[in-house]
Amino acid sequence: MSSYTINPTSETYVYMCKSKAAKKYHYNKACAGMNACSQQIIKMTLKDAKDKGKEPCSLEK
Ligand SMILES: [Zn+2]
Repeated sequence: MSSYTINPTSETYVYMCKSKAAKKYHYNKACAGMNACSQQIIKMTLKDAKDKGKEPCSLEK
C-alpha cells in the first residue's frame, strides 16, 4: 500500500446490517435495532453511510 490518504483520527464509524432492506446506520453495534438483522453486520465510516443515503437509527440519540 503506497497510497497515502488523509484520514483524521476523529473519523466516526457506524454499523449497518448488510441486508438490502437496511436503511439505518447505528453507532452502537449492539443496538436493538439490529437484532432483526440476519445478515452480516458491516462497519463503515459515518461519511460512507451518509453517502449511501442511509439514515441514523431512531433508537439511538
Ligand atoms: Zn440503532
